[in-house]
Amino acid sequence: MTNRQAIPITILALCLAGCHSAVKEVNVTPQAISNVKNVILMIGDGMGAQQLGLLEEYARRAPQSIYNETGNKTALTKLAEAGQVGLSLTAPFGPNGSLVVDSACSATQLATGLAAGSEMIGLDHNGNITETILEKAKAQGKATGLVSDTRITHATPAAFAAHQPHRSFEDKIAEQLIESGNVDVLFSGGARMFLPSDIKTDAKDRQAMVELGAPSDIYKMSKRKDNRNLIVEAKNQHGYSIAFEREQLNKITGNKVLGLFANSGMDDGIAYSACKKTGNCSQPSLREMTLAALEILSKDPDGFFLMIEGGQIDWAGHINDAGWMLHEMLKFDEAVGAVYEWIKDRNDTLLVVTADHETGGFGFSYSRNNLPKEQLLKGNGMVGNKYKPNFNFGQVENLDRLYKQTGTFYDMMKQVNGERNFTDTQGQQWADAINQYSDFKVTVEQALPIVEREPNEYQADDHSYLSAQQFPKVHDFKEFYVYGDEIHGNLIGRALSAEQNVVWSTGTHTAAPVPVYALGPKDVIKQFSTMQHHVELAQKMMTALFAE
Ligand code: MG
Ligand code: ZN
Repeated sequence: MTNRQAIPITILALCLAGCHSAVKEVNVTPQAISNVKNVILMIGDGMGAQQLGLLEEYARRAPQSIYNETGNKTALTKLAEAGQVGLSLTAPFGPNGSLVVDSACSATQLATGLAAGSEMIGLDHNGNITETILEKAKAQGKATGLVSDTRITHATPAAFAAHQPHRSFEDKIAEQLIESGNVDVLFSGGARMFLPSDIKTDAKDRQAMVELGAPSDIYKMSKRKDNRNLIVEAKNQHGYSIAFEREQLNKITGNKVLGLFANSGMDDGIAYSACKKTGNCSQPSLREMTLAALEILSKDPDGFFLMIEGGQIDWAGHINDAGWMLHEMLKFDEAVGAVYEWIKDRNDTLLVVTADHETGGFGFSYSRNNLPKEQLLKGNGMVGNKYKPNFNFGQVENLDRLYKQTGTFYDMMKQVNGERNFTDTQGQQWADAINQYSDFKVTVEQALPIVEREPNEYQADDHSYLSAQQFPKVHDFKEFYVYGDEIHGNLIGRALSAEQNVVWSTGTHTAAPVPVYALGPKDVIKQFSTMQHHVELAQKMMTALFAE
């Protein structure tokens, strides 16, 4: 175990010396080594090395690890043992590049093998529409699929099959996903982007959804500006079978399927772990969507391209919620396990698992909180001395306690103020909410900083914010908390940090290289075991799938 744990550190050290030159070589076309018929790309959104470390430490060493019954081995570790592991840089590449990437740009670079710009979908860095690996696969007669536990119109899946100047144009993305005819299988949330704007009030529109078999939760609201019902269009004009619930997915037939399993994002990992235990999940899991997609797509004799996203690792990272993030990693690893079982005895399929970037600057860290008590050790080097480290290096039991969290920081925020009007909250309310959902407890004093607000003084260059409003007070790196009142979540993370031995560096993304796992024919996967850039990674996948 110690040897294996040492490996990532060694590779990171190599990176410090070698990253820069690796990026410069990005335009070197990789040698066509061998072909595969199918490519499966799995993206853990926000899944950097630290997030993987959380999963691996939990699986291997949490006293009550859910992996205890299965040899404490994650699916990702099985992949690492059977395949290749490398690292990849993620930044927006090209002449107008930047240091840090967002999910839209990163997914576009992964989908096209070309430099892309921040927040753009399926465009190169000059704004030109570019063919994606998914579209190329479709043009060659292969089947294609996109699976995500967020919304199907969210940046990561969108970048593989839509082309828009900005990731926020999700209504347009929904149209392109349906109308292009390029995607056979679409499984995710995000029904609100497909529904007519008056879905709340128009009886005829609501009746259409009843007839399609949609539970009312699915069509509770629309984010469209027009009265198109893209779900009806998908069925009647584009030949899609439709599913809204787990049970419907189980019974689905046909080789074109649109599954919209939530009005917006799908269930979070904590909710999924809970419903899985009691056996009453109404939504399909990421694993179940993955298996259903594989079953449909693998019927195509020409092969397929499938992208599967664990998209909420990133959401937990943004709000600095370590307990939620652990459950998202578990949900993702469960889906990786399904693909691993499907692929392990084949030699015609390439599986690549990577992240689009790291989120949150997460890490376990040692502190001066709860200092360890002195202990007597029997070792012959300790005669006359007691074992008493100066600092708290974190107990492995913390891993179980993170797992025991029963709601996300969003659930805590909802409990304090369901209306999202946080102006007059109290420390006691925040302490109560945290202590209800987290196994780590805080005092009212520890919760007080979550209450603090300051006037928003930013008015530079007439980018004048709502200056009369009060914003939550962040004491450090405040420019890196960009989502308004969601900072309350980040402040919950701060309140819990000392007890959890967890620190966070930002509310956005970091530029750390992300891990790459590759499984498939030996000659195909050996090229992934290096320090690369995502633009190169995409080129390698395309070469493997398309080269003669
Ligand atoms: Mg994403
Ligand atoms: Zn993000």
